[in-house]
Amino acid sequence: MNKKMRILILASTVSLIALSVIQGYLIKNTYQIKKDAFLNKTRKEIGRLDNYSPAIDSINTVWQEYFIDELKQYHSNYFYHLNNETNIKNSVTSNQKIKKLLIKNLLKKANALSATYTKLYHDEMKEKGFLFDVKIQRRINEIILTDGLQIDTIFSDRYNEKMYLIGDKFDYIKGHKVSNAIWMTDHDYETTINKKALNLNFDLQFSSTDYMNIDGWKNIVLKKMIGVLSLALIIFLFVFGLLFYSIKNLIKQKKIADVKTDFVNNITHELKTPLATLTLATKILLNTSVKKNEAIVNKTILTVERQNKRLQKLIDQVLDNSLGYQEIQIKKENIEIEAYLNTIIDDFLLSIQNENIKINTSFSIKNKTVKIDKFYFTTAILNILENAVKYNNAKVNINITVNTQNAFILSIKDNGIGISKKNQANIFDKFYRVNNKNQHNVKGLGLGLYYTNQIVKAHQGTIKIISKELKGTEFIIKLPI
Ligand code: ADP
Repeated sequence: MNKKMRILILASTVSLIALSVIQGYLIKNTYQIKKDAFLNKTRKEIGRLDNYSPAIDSINTVWQEYFIDELKQYHSNYFYHLNNETNIKNSVTSNQKIKKLLIKNLLKKANALSATYTKLYHDEMKEKGFLFDVKIQRRINEIILTDGLQIDTIFSDRYNEKMYLIGDKFDYIKGHKVSNAIWMTDHDYETTINKKALNLNFDLQFSSTDYMNIDGWKNIVLKKMIGVLSLALIIFLFVFGLLFYSIKNLIKQKKIADVKTDFVNNITHELKTPLATLTLATKILLNTSVKKNEAIVNKTILTVERQNKRLQKLIDQVLDNSLGYQEIQIKKENIEIEAYLNTIIDDFLLSIQNENIKINTSFSIKNKTVKIDKFYFTTAILNILENAVKYNNAKVNINITVNTQNAFILSIKDNGIGISKKNQANIFDKFYRVNNKNQHNVKGLGLGLYYTNQIVKAHQGTIKIISKELKGTEFIIKLPI
């Protein structure tokens, strides 16, 4: 892969990541907006219930009136203690005790009403068409009592956690705030302290916060976003797929271009030698002194014939070996395997005339036959045998075995230079040649194994290789019987 392509792939990947991050950010924002809109709408609806439901209102009135009565008592007691307790420390302790009692009574009252209060809320919500379960809770922030003499903080969330008053029980921190309410009233009342009738008054400041807890609110919001989410996912997958496909295609095209360039280089190299010889031969034949010498003329004509054959073979190789298996018209006939293979091996050894090449056969399959096209199948086997010789740096040793049990399995194993795992995947591709630095003198067009594979495919068979670099290669052809 060249630098330009690497930069292109890197830039596309970075752009895709950036695009995904932006998309993620937009989705997050949309989620936030949808969430806020949903919570606000629910808040509004709950606020309406609070304001317009007479039943809920009356429950609030009950505990409020009760609390005012308690407060009046507290206020007069407080006065009593304040006026009678000479010891300040005692006064403070008893005041705190009374406050605690006051709050306890308030909570007790509210608690007694809580079940009815929540039921009313839930019923009203159902009536209003809430399709989800909302829990509601009120918590006290502050209770401050003021009269002409004192400001008395009965409870404050500045020192304590907000106090549960009424409603459903849930962890309010995990819930959502609905609204704050401040109830400010002044109260005049008559009381008797030490048999003395007194007119007292106080102002009450009671602040509280309502919280809601919606079961599965996240899912509800996500459901509202399902359209946007699906669309975003589809677009992302589409862009990712497109990019992946484009890069894959680009790499493939680059490989094809490289392979074609190699092929053109190879064929040019192959054509040059016979053409150069033919040019030389023509020059010799044109020479007037040579014309008279019959022996030289005959020898040169033979050379011309040889080179002509060589050129013809090369062109045939390109034309025939480029055929796809659909284009190969095979005519199957029953062939006696052992005799057939032995003939091929003998002819092959005879044609190369090299004592350093040994072919071992170990099969005893007398009378076993297979249905093949003799002409094409011979070419396939010869291609493999020629390669076993071509791609070998030592004494060539080829082992041929045959198995005919469930299928016709022919194995041709050599002790050659082997093929690396990476190259094995492409070995049957058209024009593919391994870039062997130490094998650059071995000629070829990268068509032999392609054609062999096409022939095997035309026979409805398969071919596979087992190879280890520097150890050798085994070709296994399997044909159905
Ligand atoms: P060619 O031999 O014309 O290059 P082939 O299609 O026959 O084309 O083979 C493709 C490539 O596979 C060869 O270039 C060679 O590198 C490798 N190859 C084929 N057969 C063998 C083998 N028996 N041992 C090692 N390498 C082989």
